[in-house]
Amino acid sequence: MIPYIDIHTHSIHSGTGCIEVVSLDMADLHTNCGGDVDAICQKVSSCGQYAAIGLHPWNVASAEVCLATLPIVVQRCPNVRFIGEVGLDRTRDIDMGWQKNVFQTQVEMSEDLSIPMVIHCVRAFDELLCMRKALNPHQRWIVHGFRGKPELARQLMRSGLDISMGEHYNPLSLGVIPMDRLWIETDMSESNIQSVYTSLCENLNIDADTLRESVFQRFQHLMDAHKPTNSPKIVVN
Ligand SMILES: [Zn+2]
Repeated sequence: MIPYIDIHTHSIHSGTGCIEVVSLDMADLHTNCGGDVDAICQKVSSCGQYAAIGLHPWNVASAEVCLATLPIVVQRCPNVRFIGEVGLDRTRDIDMGWQKNVFQTQVEMSEDLSIPMVIHCVRAFDELLCMRKALNPHQRWIVHGFRGKPELARQLMRSGLDISMGEHYNPLSLGVIPMDRLWIETDMSESNIQSVYTSLCENLNIDADTLRESVFQRFQHLMDAHKPTNSPKIVVN
């Protein structure tokens, strides 16, 4: 059976017939591994799934040391295929100028390393789209956990971004996202990836196989396009 793809999760779900992109935050990795780069790489490589690493906008206070380590970890851990989750968040009391600085540095890393991005954006879409326009990146940007209205979804589509949806989403926005720009995630949710696919299929009025095949093929294509020479074999969970 074609595996489900979970484009953004914080935990590994065993026995779910799923390939996952596990998001690991650089600040947490640094803390848990006492800043030891070898230990960080060991931890990231041993997750057994694809990984996204980056500095979350809530953790930008520790940017200096984390951003220095990030490209080293990407280069040493071939299962790291995304920079993420990174982005902008206006609901937190963290200077927006600094958030933008840290985000831009990570955009530049994504371009230099030729890997796509998983983006966290809360109430800062004007800033995000402005930066996208100014930086004109080549790598794919996937805005995760999108719950916005159709007009915002249309804006993101026009600006060339992809959207990932999880357990909670605005069904009206589904209609404006072409299937080849839609990704699916569990993020922190307790619900499993199958139920998110089922919910989206019901709202899209398509059968489950069509959506699963579409996401899987695109994911494979994306992974093949950014394949490191020492790429590991990822097993279906
Ligand atoms: Zn997340």
